[in-house]
Amino acid sequence: MSIKQNLHNIKSSLPENVKLVAVSKTKPVEDLMEAYNAGQRIFGENKIQEMANKYEQMPKDIQWHMIGHVQRNKVKYMASFVDLVHGVDSFKLLKEIDKQATHSQRQIKCLLQIKIAEEDSKFGMTPEDASSLLSSNEFSELEHIKIVGLMGMATFTNNMIQVENEFNVLKSTFEELKTQHQELEIISMGMSGDYELAIKCGSNMIRVGSSIFGARNYN
Ligand SMILES: *Cc1c(COP(=O)(O)O)cnc(C)c1O
Repeated sequence: MSIKQNLHNIKSSLPENVKLVAVSKTKPVEDLMEAYNAGQRIFGENKIQEMANKYEQMPKDIQWHMIGHVQRNKVKYMASFVDLVHGVDSFKLLKEIDKQATHSQRQIKCLLQIKIAEEDSKFGMTPEDASSLLSSNEFSELEHIKIVGLMGMATFTNNMIQVENEFNVLKSTFEELKTQHQELEIISMGMSGDYELAIKCGSNMIRVGSSIFGARNYN
């Protein structure tokens, strides 16, 4: 099926409050343009350099989301244009994003990544760390970043009960933090294999790659 058709099928099944991030990592600009021409405006990449290259080549009304692990020394390459950084997992990183956003005279929106998966390979903070970060003085001094929600990745497993439990942890963490921090709005969870479940568990932003663009080839 075509990218356009895939997009249409997914979009028509989504509740109105759920935003779709089209994860285009490893895919050529032609594929992204096909999605763009079908109306898609939010694209997610997991490598800063690749996102910056695509930003240069693509129309300027696209919202670029950095969904991968962020290396601090590369933040400067996206600070002038990135719309939302999903994978913020330390104050140090937040401080660097604030610094580069200041240089670009912007305010950059961020999500705190919460570790909900069992796997050691997945990054993220504990709910407790996220809570103390949001309440800290040093955080309140950063004027060029805005934390607008949370992001999480479930364990890569066929056990959907486990995935559901992990999504529920993110949702309840969000609800609890929101009582103190009303500016939190976004729960980014759900990918091609589990976004329907994620939406049932309260996601309002899903990150879908292979179901739109087809399987990735990393060679
Ligand atoms: C690659 C990636 C996705 C999309 O994965 P698919 O299974 O292709 O939908 C979502 N989130 C993150 C953080 C990713 O790196």
